[in-house]
Amino acid sequence: MDAFTPALDLLLSDGLLIESGVNGLYGRSGVFEDVLQRVEALTRTVAAQDGAMVMRFPPGMSRAAFERSGYIKNFPHLAGVVRCFCGDEPAHRALMRSCDAGEDWGAELASTDVVLAPAACYPVYPALAQRGVVPDQGWLVDVAGYCFRHEPSREVTRMQWFRMQEFVRVGTEAQVLAFRQEWMARAGALAQVLGLPHELEVANDPFFGRAGKLQADGQREKALKFELVIPVNPGAPPTACGSFNYHGEHFGRTWGLQLADGSTAHTCCVGFGLERLTVALFRQHGSWPGHWPDELRGALWSLPC
Ligand code: AMP
Ligand code: ZN
Repeated sequence: MDAFTPALDLLLSDGLLIESGVNGLYGRSGVFEDVLQRVEALTRTVAAQDGAMVMRFPPGMSRAAFERSGYIKNFPHLAGVVRCFCGDEPAHRALMRSCDAGEDWGAELASTDVVLAPAACYPVYPALAQRGVVPDQGWLVDVAGYCFRHEPSREVTRMQWFRMQEFVRVGTEAQVLAFRQEWMARAGALAQVLGLPHELEVANDPFFGRAGKLQADGQREKALKFELVIPVNPGAPPTACGSFNYHGEHFGRTWGLQLADGSTAHTCCVGFGLERLTVALFRQHGSWPGHWPDELRGALWSLPC
């Protein structure tokens, strides 16, 4: 048992999460799911006045788009890909022999054109690029869905499959940075409504390897990433429940997103971890939403879900 197990055990024993036998892969109870959907609705209510274009994608994305986005270069340790059996009958017999012997039968599988989406926003940039030149007011997309990251853990908020609600902004540097700034203020207000102690911190992504350390340092120096952190595990650093990411021209260059004057578009995304916010609520207010403070219940249970 590690330091984080008690928090997970509590959610499991109170029936909010359901064990699957794999760390970071859990079922969700009706009560957990109800709260999560209300949290999602709350983030979307905050965003309602912006008039974002809604996009939804399956939890898998095009492998070609994934490669082009640079994910496998920067985060190979987190990536998950879909491999399938495409062989003949002798290959199937070999597969079954490995399977029956309790061996790894992955060698009998072949890569497909599908990878698991590592963040909700990744399929958005190529989808927008298909629409041609970015309009003067820029683009704003509301995107959400299940994301996969290979980081098995008993730390209750570090899941392998979890949902993100994201808002993606594409436009000039000024439009994109103003949007990010606005959301950093909104996120504090959102945490306040949820009755969760919170702070905003400069952060970095977990880039792979030694070169990755330099990238992470550069990201911090330029304050490209901020996180909304909320205490979840007593005695441990607070958990990132939201992130505010300025990508500069990275995705604009990668996908040929162009402004009307021919320059490359800037992008940013604001992402909320829906399981993390939900777990934070249960940790802060207890496992029975019926006992939560009236103000919080009023805010969450008045939403159309
Ligand atoms: P990131 O792209 O890493 O900034 O992630 C966006 C948001 O997703 C974070 O702020 C977290 O709230 C959430 N998140 C990231 N990784 C995980 C994970 N392993 N389990 C649950 N939520 C996560
Ligand atoms: Zn994103």
